[in-house]
Amino acid sequence: MVTASSAAYLVSGPDPYVQFGTRRVPVDIQRSPRASRMKLRIDRSARVILVLPMRTRLSSGLAFLKQEIPWIGQKIQNMPMPVPFRDGETVPVLGVPHRICHAPDERGLVWQDEEKLVVAGQIEHLPRRVRDWLRKRAKREISSRAGDYADELGQTIKGITVRDQKTRWGSCSSTGQLNFSWRLVLMPEMVMDYIIAHEVAHLRHMNHSAAFWALVGELHADVPSAKKWLKENGAEIHKYGIEPDKGV
Ligand SMILES: [Zn+2]
Repeated sequence: MVTASSAAYLVSGPDPYVQFGTRRVPVDIQRSPRASRMKLRIDRSARVILVLPMRTRLSSGLAFLKQEIPWIGQKIQNMPMPVPFRDGETVPVLGVPHRICHAPDERGLVWQDEEKLVVAGQIEHLPRRVRDWLRKRAKREISSRAGDYADELGQTIKGITVRDQKTRWGSCSSTGQLNFSWRLVLMPEMVMDYIIAHEVAHLRHMNHSAAFWALVGELHADVPSAKKWLKENGAEIHKYGIEPDKGV
């Protein structure tokens, strides 16, 4: 629990953060030519984004940030604690919890061993290796499932990209390009399938009409449960893979 009265303080430097008790909240300072005044927001990964106009001094920005610490504390307390990719942490793969186990003496990169994610090599490469493995796995799972749905509809997918998009789980362009967040691979299969079916159905209907939803219902057996899961657990999915110092 973070309250405005708990010992919260700002640590500036190359990787600034606000410390709330035991919780470290990274701060990302951005310069924007379009900003006319200082702006503060919290992104979905529980990271503070401070946007400064080009000519505002950094010291003014930091003073502003300090003033807003109680506000940040209020926002942060409702957000899940970040789970960095570290030895001993648990991350879901297709909704099944897997423990990250560092194996410095093993050869190879990353592999699944029952409910473990074993990571070889030096410890400093572990977060990147876990992230790369999850992204690759996401690409493979999403591509094969999207391909199956498209075949069912007799539609053609122009291409599939898997990115670290923060605002949407998936999108479909008018040219038939599908984009997904790699974080789908963390979700239960039933939920991941719904998001993929949703975007593939947009290849036929570029809207959210009754015909569109009927088509999603043909592709996926339980749309209401998937939507309910996303509403209740979607925010949790953003907590994984956030490095406390970097916020990436
Ligand atoms: Zn849609």
